[in-house]
Amino acid sequence: MSLRPDKQMIRRSLFILVIAILCLTLISGASLVRIMLIKGEEYQSKASEQQLYDSLVTAPRGNIYDRNMNLLATSATAWTVYVMPNSINKLKDAEKAGKIREIISSGLSEILEMDSEEIKNKVNQTTYYVIIKKKVEKETADKVREFISANKDYEMTKFLGLDEATKRYYPNDTLASCVLGFVGDDDQGLAGLESYYDNELTGVPGRVVAAKNAKGTDMPFTYEKVEEAKRGNSLVSTIDSYVQYVCEKYLDAAVEENHIAERGAVMAMDVNTGAIRGMAISGDFNPNSPFTLSSADQAQVDAAPEDQKADLRKELLNRQWRNKAVSDTYEPGSVFKIFTASTALEEGLINTNSSFTCNYTFVVAGNAYHCHHAGGHGTQSLQQAISNSCNPAFIQIGQLIGNKVFSKYFKAFGMAEKTGIDLPGEALPTYHAEEKMGPTELASSSFGQTFNVTPIQMITMAAASVNGGYLVQPHLVDKIVDSDGKVVESKSSGYKRQVISKATSETMRTLLEYVVQNGAKNGIVAGYRVGGKTGTSQKMVKIVETGNRGFYIGSYVGIVPINDPQIAVYVMLDEPTGGSYYGGVISAPVGSRVMSEILPYLGIEPQYSEAELKNISVPVPDVTSNALIDAKKALSSVGLSYKVVGNGDTVLRQHPTSGNAVFRGGTVILYTEDTEAQNTVVPGLIGMTANEVNAAAASAGINVEFSGNTSSPAIKSYKQSINAGETVPVGQIVTVYFRDEDTVDLAD
Ligand SMILES: [Zn+2]
Repeated sequence: MSLRPDKQMIRRSLFILVIAILCLTLISGASLVRIMLIKGEEYQSKASEQQLYDSLVTAPRGNIYDRNMNLLATSATAWTVYVMPNSINKLKDAEKAGKIREIISSGLSEILEMDSEEIKNKVNQTTYYVIIKKKVEKETADKVREFISANKDYEMTKFLGLDEATKRYYPNDTLASCVLGFVGDDDQGLAGLESYYDNELTGVPGRVVAAKNAKGTDMPFTYEKVEEAKRGNSLVSTIDSYVQYVCEKYLDAAVEENHIAERGAVMAMDVNTGAIRGMAISGDFNPNSPFTLSSADQAQVDAAPEDQKADLRKELLNRQWRNKAVSDTYEPGSVFKIFTASTALEEGLINTNSSFTCNYTFVVAGNAYHCHHAGGHGTQSLQQAISNSCNPAFIQIGQLIGNKVFSKYFKAFGMAEKTGIDLPGEALPTYHAEEKMGPTELASSSFGQTFNVTPIQMITMAAASVNGGYLVQPHLVDKIVDSDGKVVESKSSGYKRQVISKATSETMRTLLEYVVQNGAKNGIVAGYRVGGKTGTSQKMVKIVETGNRGFYIGSYVGIVPINDPQIAVYVMLDEPTGGSYYGGVISAPVGSRVMSEILPYLGIEPQYSEAELKNISVPVPDVTSNALIDAKKALSSVGLSYKVVGNGDTVLRQHPTSGNAVFRGGTVILYTEDTEAQNTVVPGLIGMTANEVNAAAASAGINVEFSGNTSSPAIKSYKQSINAGETVPVGQIVTVYFRDEDTVDLAD
């Protein structure tokens, strides 16, 4: 509860008082403000008068849960500390009044960690009620209460008090912040789900109407009526905290590794229902303190000229709150070839026996388009054309489709409108309307350039191409429940329309699996059948603006299991500046890493091939304090080797420790005496095949863990987690990263 009776409020309140006395009806109030109804300041001194007050009691906001009812946002009790300056002003003993003001200012300054002058100014006002600090937590509130009772000689209860209020908490800090959003000072939703579902989350304020004695104390009442505040409804989100965490973890790692200048996004969606399981945006904020900039952004503000600081701060805050997957559009590049292929297949313009010729250059209406592959691809089957991501082939497919049919399917796949996802600020796409789509526009649109759509549109389109042809409704809230857990509203997870036939969708699944097996190999996930498509789009607007051609977006959509699609993972990295910028090289590995961690968790079990089994990591068991004989047995049973150091019969410590994973066949060092750890030197492990890395690691006495695609001997390692030449304990785990560098998909 909070009070705010300035003069205007008091006048308005008096009016309400009359109504209240006459009708005893409820005051409807949208704001969660406690309104003091007193008979005006001129009456306050009349000791015989009774005062009636009417308070709106703040209603706690509903919670936001993830799909497993883990709390993502909740409201807890907090307190508002206030003073009543006029009650001090009324004291006849001016010296005593001054002393009280002094005690309050210095006492609260210490407890609330505020400037004592600031408090003094408030205490010196000539108003009935002034807030000193809002949203104070219990510990601090208790200190204020102690302070009040410690100063009871001064009758501090008459001058200083605490009102109960609520405060929004996000127990996981930054997790899913761009989805959850945050609330303002008065608990109103300002971004994300907090804003979109503000009406549902906001409760109904309760009310206390009471007459009280003239001294302003709460007792004795001559009349009191209490109506309980009603907590707002809660949201059960589609987000899975673990999936969200995994999406964020690998997005952050990719942003760092590839020096991404303009942030990135990773999403995981149920392709059959449109339920978003994870939506990660890099550079996220902490909704517990949404107005705090990251240290890098803050440094930028600090370094700016004084007159530009405020604007820059505002700009950076808006950027950190912005949900890039929904509020920003981009040219999708080659991932959009999924649309072009689906459309032409559905219309019977091409089939799996079609072939396309690429002679490097393809001219449309006087404009020459080039393939990314020097010399051209020659004659290709449909599956080769999509796997090669060959632009001349896709321009030809676009010509077969024509502007009319292209536009019809563009609309059908939801590319011409907002998806209607339950988040505020969804961006509208911009594209060539049918009547304005000439041969040139059709050509570039066929391979995903010269129009702008959002990432959420792209993942939804890709889902429709493989799920049997259904355009689903992407959504973040599954149901709305009241404070008793009763379902108030269930969100439909039905589809909007069928866009392509089941047969066409099945063909698309086959094509996209071929793409990952043969082209986008970094999308491979050991144990799973994956389909996908990569894209590297040029940021044409920025390129034209700056005259610099080096602005790209690397993206990827993967779907798994492709024979029975369940989850789509979307990755986009905006402006890589750290070397490679191809979606197939920088984004597909992110999709693969995310899938390899979330799929077993989601109950989609891996089925490893013989070759894959060799490269599977196993978790290291905890054998410390075990009898040596038991430790050996435990390690052997999971396929790990061991080396014993010392002559004891109990394991004193082990390296690596449990909680790590190493390759089946890796070695755990068991120390049975309190000797120094044996050391070794990390060998160079870059530019090698998986087998070569294994051999080098074994001879150096270290364990390795592989990250990325090791499916082919042509794929070499490009990074190791501990540099060559460093001294480490024997058995140390070094992560070695692999990716196929020979995957290009540039739409030119
Ligand atoms: Zn080509």
